[in-house]
Formats: sequence, C-alpha cells, structure tokens
Amino acid sequence: MRRIVSIKEMQELANSWKREGKKIGFVPTMGFLHEGHLSLVRKAKELSDKLVVSIFVNPIQFGPSEDFNKYPRDIERDCMLLEKEGVDVVFIPDAKEMYPEGFQTYVEVTELTKGLCGAFRPGHFRGVTTVVLKLFNIVKPDIAIFGEKDYQQLQVIKRMVKDLNLDVEVVGAPTVREPDGLAMSSRNTYLSEKERESALSLYRALSLAQELVEKGVLSVQKLKKELKDFIESYPYTKVQYIEFVDPENLKPVEEIKAPTLCALAVFVGNARLIDNSIIKPK
Ligand code: AMP
Repeated sequence: MRRIVSIKEMQELANSWKREGKKIGFVPTMGFLHEGHLSLVRKAKELSDKLVVSIFVNPIQFGPSEDFNKYPRDIERDCMLLEKEGVDVVFIPDAKEMYPEGFQTYVEVTELTKGLCGAFRPGHFRGVTTVVLKLFNIVKPDIAIFGEKDYQQLQVIKRMVKDLNLDVEVVGAPTVREPDGLAMSSRNTYLSEKERESALSLYRALSLAQELVEKGVLSVQKLKKELKDFIESYPYTKVQYIEFVDPENLKPVEEIKAPTLCALAVFVGNARLIDNSIIKPK
C-alpha cells in the first residue's frame, strides 16, 4: 500500500491508472477507522480495480466551537487496517496542502443543507462539499462510497455530483452498528462507560419510532415528543434535534404516510452523536 501526501503525486498516479483503463474506487474518511469505514472500503474494493482511501480531518467543516482539535487521530493504526483490506493508496494530505494561502473557492448545495445538521452546524456542509469536490479532482474516482450513517451528507454529495455534472458514481452503504445497536462512530471514543450506556438511547429511539408508527401513532408532533422524552430519560443526554423528513428532499413531514427518514442528533456528555433510520408505515 502506497502512502501519498502530495496532491500532484496522487493526480499523476490517478492519471496513469486512467490511461490503463482502470476503474478507480474511493472512500473519503477523517480517519480513526472502525468497522463502518471498513465496510465502505470492502464495498469499494468489490466495485473497482484500484482503491484509494483518504484520511483528512477537514478543518473547514468544523465550527469554531466544535471538536476539530480533539478529533481522534491514529494514522499508523488506520494504515495497518487499510493495508489488510488490500487498499492500493492511502491519501493523507495535510491542511496546508489542501488549503494553501490564498484559498478562497467554495462549493455549496443550497437547499438540502438547510435542515437537520445544516441548521445547527452553519458552514459544515459547505466545508464537506468543498473538500469532497477537491478530493474528487485529485483522486479522479469512477465510484465513491459514502455511509448512510451521515444520511444528509450522502444526499448533499449526490446532489452536488448531479448539479455539477461530475463523472463519479456515488454509492451509499448501510450503517454498521455495535452488537447492541450503537452506530459506530469515531466520536464514540469520547464516551465514558456510563455515557456509552446512554448513547444507546439513539438506536433505541429509532426502534421506538418504528414501533409507535406500527401501533398507529402517525403524527410527527406526537412522535417527536415521545422520542425526546424517551431519549432524555437517559442520563447525560440532551436532544439537539429529532426530525422526520422525506428521504429524498429532506423536507419535514407532518404525518407518516410513506417511508420517512427519522434523523436524530443528541449530545451525550460532550459528544454530539447522530443516527437515522427509515421508518415505514404498516
Ligand atoms: P468520517 O470518517 O466520520 O468522515 O466517515 C467517513 C465515511 O464513513 C462517511 O461516508 C461516513 O458516512 C461513513 N461512516 C461513518 N460511520 C459509519 C458507520 N457506522 N457505518 C457505515 N458508514 C459509516
């Protein structure tokens, strides 16, 4: 497995693969890898001839009061895991390589980013789409895999690719969970043992939403109240949002009449955790 830190070197390698007619698969990450990331890597491997994984904690997608500085990092462990998966290149640029002095160009998806996490993290998705477009121009993938764990991000990237006519196929992959249901996340490392218990409230709330809907509770107002009370009955939790939205356009719905995305953001101690699932009426 080759480690590349230079944009130019990555682009030259991608160009040489293109000339050979190789299909390039790509998984962008912020590192501190877990089985969720590795499931994306395995899927990408199946669908491509050459596989690139990037590790870059992207400063421009973090707000001033967010966890950029303390975001967990362990490049050596990450590289060991990726090598085992048969990854061809791990691309690890630093912030100066990606955003040299004078950088001033951003890309923004305007509507899909208004609700859910976008409402609470101003500038976050602008940072995400900008870095992903840059990475696409550097790695030149034919196919890129993103997790449904970050459902809004996946929809935003798909929209950007469509709107800007990028020649990349964006594929979603299901959320990988711990045996007890907690969605895997690099941020789970922030949780103390007791907070880890409370973090289970997100997954359990999504299951509760499905149960309530099956029992005929279809009013979103009622569902939101039930879920908030349920989550906040666990210690150390504070709900940021509970939303029920159309899975395509992410617009809020008032009643569950069709498959609907239930998306949650909850602070457990200082860790901001998100989770989601599609709730289906009977
Ligand atoms: P991150 O390193 O958190 O930026 O995530 C990199 C990619 O992995 C994104 O496409 C995420 O949606 C995806 N991902 C993160 N956690 C999971 C998970 N538990 N299951 C599946 N994909 C995930």
